[in-house]
Amino acid sequence: MITLVRRRATLCALGTLTAALAALAGCAGETSGEVGRPAHPPASAAAPSPPAPPTLAPGPSGLTPVFENGPRSRGRTVALTFDADMTADQGPRAAAGERFDNPALVATLRRLKVPATFFMTGRWAEEYPAQARAIGRDPLFEVANHSYSHHAFTGRCYGLPTVPAARMRADMERAFAAFRAAGVERRVPYFRFPGGCYDQRALRALAPGGVTAVQWDVVSGDAFATDPAAVARQVLDGVRPGSVVVMHCTRSAAPTTERALRTIVPELRERGFRFVRVSEQIGAAGSVGVRG
Ligand SMILES: [Zn+2]
Repeated sequence: MITLVRRRATLCALGTLTAALAALAGCAGETSGEVGRPAHPPASAAAPSPPAPPTLAPGPSGLTPVFENGPRSRGRTVALTFDADMTADQGPRAAAGERFDNPALVATLRRLKVPATFFMTGRWAEEYPAQARAIGRDPLFEVANHSYSHHAFTGRCYGLPTVPAARMRADMERAFAAFRAAGVERRVPYFRFPGGCYDQRALRALAPGGVTAVQWDVVSGDAFATDPAAVARQVLDGVRPGSVVVMHCTRSAAPTTERALRTIVPELRERGFRFVRVSEQIGAAGSVGVRG
């Protein structure tokens, strides 16, 4: 499978070994998104208030806009993003002792004072409500939506079960509801597709929700990694001004991420990078109006 690894490969499917391996092969369902249209206030009830985080204006035909990275020419900012993956049917595995959380990672971000954006599944918030609440009340962090179920929003995405188009928005809204139930305060109206897999149909289905879809331009490779130095190297090699890095806050499937951070954070600071949340990058993209 190694020869099939693509730059965009990410951790998407934690349900089965087959799916997990497939996750390393990349995502066939992606399309490119547009960056840098003017920011506008979010219209969705999903958005917290006040102050409302910036979102991008809708794409062509009113489709959900897609953000991949911030401006390249407005200073050395980088957004670390952490997907808190848990699939709807993984409750029994959690009950059996598998850990889909990663408290040490959160503690390290706090110790190093690194702002970050968590893309949390609703199922994760239900499993770990105290952690979800604590992350969601910490001014360092913001909590975005990674669906409720972590099922696929396209037909083929790492072997994940597929969410029917008619249920896509409901799946997203169910995650926001889970965040509210857990007491997550710093919710932002951003959505990351499970596996990063999306198409026009998915963008249309979510459009009434008023979210901005958030992809990335740097894959950390932390999914199922065993060598934190390799993860750190991949991130350090990939980061440019405005980058969005995708990592994971799921210990069982991304066990080296916390250790990798201990290298990544000081090294990027040494290079003059400033860590920001995705909301800051989206705000900057909207005000600059440039394609990333
Ligand atoms: Zn995910």
